[in-house]
Amino acid sequence: MTPEQFKALRTAEDNLTAVLCDPEGKCCISGSDADRRIIDDALDILRALAAEPAPCAGNDPLCPCQDGDACHYRDSGETKAWPVPEHTQKGKT
Ligand SMILES: [Zn+2]
Repeated sequence: MTPEQFKALRTAEDNLTAVLCDPEGKCCISGSDADRRIIDDALDILRALAAEPAPCAGNDPLCPCQDGDACHYRDSGETKAWPVPEHTQKGKT
């Protein structure tokens, strides 16, 4: 998942919660209990995915891409990607 896709995922989760849920974050649309349970389950999956930090090309928790901005470790326009620090490569397969 790219940082852009991750941002879109978080936006989708926020929007669905705003439309479908009560202030506690539980689905409150009219319909059967089964329908509301299905929506709650789907939202739980989205929230679990959106709660993960965005994947960073440099595996850097302080990288601006963690806040949805451009990643330091990817070329973007005129900005050259930073070299990935060696210590963050350890343990990568
Ligand atoms: Zn990054």
